Amino acid sequence: MSYVELNAVRKSYGDTEIIHGVDLKLEKETFTVFVGPSGCGKSTLLRMIAGLEDINSGSIHIGGERVDQLEPAERGIAMVFQNYALYPHMTVFDNMSFGLRIARESAKDIRAKVERAADILQISEILQRRPRELSGGQRQRVAIGRAIVREPKVFLFDEPLSNLDAKLRVQMRLELTRLRHQLRATMIYVTHDQVEAMTMADQIVVLNKGKVEQAGRPLDLYHSPANKFVAGFIGSPAMNFLDATLIAAAEKGVRLALKNGAEIAVPRRPGTAKAGDPVTLGIRPEDVQIGGGDARVEGTVVAVERLGNESFIYLDLPGSTEFAVHAAGDVAAAVGSKIDVGLIASRCHVFDSAGQALSSLQAGT
Ligand code: ADP
Repeated sequence: MSYVELNAVRKSYGDTEIIHGVDLKLEKETFTVFVGPSGCGKSTLLRMIAGLEDINSGSIHIGGERVDQLEPAERGIAMVFQNYALYPHMTVFDNMSFGLRIARESAKDIRAKVERAADILQISEILQRRPRELSGGQRQRVAIGRAIVREPKVFLFDEPLSNLDAKLRVQMRLELTRLRHQLRATMIYVTHDQVEAMTMADQIVVLNKGKVEQAGRPLDLYHSPANKFVAGFIGSPAMNFLDATLIAAAEKGVRLALKNGAEIAVPRRPGTAKAGDPVTLGIRPEDVQIGGGDARVEGTVVAVERLGNESFIYLDLPGSTEFAVHAAGDVAAAVGSKIDVGLIASRCHVFDSAGQALSSLQAGT
């Protein structure tokens, strides 16, 4: 059995089911991120693992023990919330030690645990301050410290960095990554931010409308999305989608006709798709070449984002009004001008009319 397992977990509020049978396995000392659009059920799933919400059916195991009927305090978890949930009238030390005092640990053990956590989080200097005397980043560290001292089997984080400014988020992201290796901790982390998911996770679970769309390693999801939803969610700027028609299906690949009449042979297995079917061609901005590639499409430049080391050019072309192309920092591209771009056939994804990806012919993808 895996360290954390969810089997056929369902949840309804009234007559409305919002989690539709989730199966998940998480290994010990791994970092799993639940990601998906707002309202997809990420927090609910996390709160069910924590025991803050009941499940309607299914089971949850942590460390080999069935926990779905246990109280939150009996599950061996510690949760870190977006709004920190610190007690305003208590010092940092008292906030961090609160759970240990409730558990009647000795004063000596409490001090040792708080000091160790404070040291790891570099907040030893502020143990006597109250939350209002702290910056957002410091408050977040205190909330994490309060979780660390409890030495949980699993840390649960619910959008912990959402209240921080952009620069601090990047810094805390790195700190959390460092922390999880230092603590050898098992962590589950909820975010709507796919960059956080990509940069921190060992395993990403992409949720949509209360269902798991795909679970796997970040780069596997990036390179081999199982469906159009995952393809469009993971990656920034997002994968480009073009309407196309499948004109020939053979085991060695499919041939597509694009809206502008260009044809492209893509090394994907047709599965159940057949000639005449409408399909979607997906291609990432970095897999489009200006003036090169296997199938040419002409577009009009509608915007250029220059980031210094790289640029993104957005094109209006047949089948897409915001077709993103990754290019060099100093690429020549004037808004209103026309550019010929080419799609690299081996990098194209193809989705059938139900949005499922046609599987790749290339080994390992
Ligand atoms: P996420 O964390 O992905 O934004 P949530 O888990 O908070 O999503 O919510 C999932 C769905 O469940 C949403 O449609 C939300 O409106 C609904 N929901 C959450 N909590 C309740 C509740 N207490 N009563 C009724 N519906 C709820």
